[in-house]
Amino acid sequence: MKAYRLPTRRAAVLFDMDGTLYTHPEYQQSQIDLPVERLARLRGKSFEAMNREITRHREEWAAAHGGRKTSLGNVFTAFGVSIAESVRWREELYEPERYLAEDPLLCAVLAQLAARFALAVVTNNPVSIARRTLAVLGAAAYFRAIVGLDTCGVSKPHKAPFLKAAERCGAAAASCVSVGDRYDIDIALPLELGMGGVLVDGVEDVYKLPDLF
Ligand SMILES: [Mg+2]
Repeated sequence: MKAYRLPTRRAAVLFDMDGTLYTHPEYQQSQIDLPVERLARLRGKSFEAMNREITRHREEWAAAHGGRKTSLGNVFTAFGVSIAESVRWREELYEPERYLAEDPLLCAVLAQLAARFALAVVTNNPVSIARRTLAVLGAAAYFRAIVGLDTCGVSKPHKAPFLKAAERCGAAAASCVSVGDRYDIDIALPLELGMGGVLVDGVEDVYKLPDLF
């Protein structure tokens, strides 16, 4: 876990969902593989060939953008899949209920944090998937706002979802902290917006947040 510029006055904590509020490599991998599989089928290619093309695109994008990474949703737009289509695919393909279960420790930590801060989820998944995920984890009650791929129609890293979450929490950007597992997606842009950031390795680090805050 690594903290970046935590504001002295903290009003809201904006959580990434996948790899942050739960850690489940198999489910997380399925969220990449299932849309790639569908794209491959639509383009008449093998899964492996599609994966290679996507990897090549990611490498070229990173080389042109100072080594930064971008989201799968943004990568898919380069292959002709709009954000709106990505939302539909994810709603059809993702199954949080199949992989995840209630997390009492997470809920205890969120209850502690929610007593002091407004909590939000900022995710590159559709809001409906985020709701289903929070429901399985037992954590829905602690969040004041969920901002998903279909809220602003753009994918993190983009400032709109972060600013929308801050607004829904009634907090100025300078009093928000973004918590996530990918620096380029969850932390870099919030820091530019004047927010603080906490990079986590997974939910195990989220369990320790009350000590940090
Ligand atoms: Mg994540």
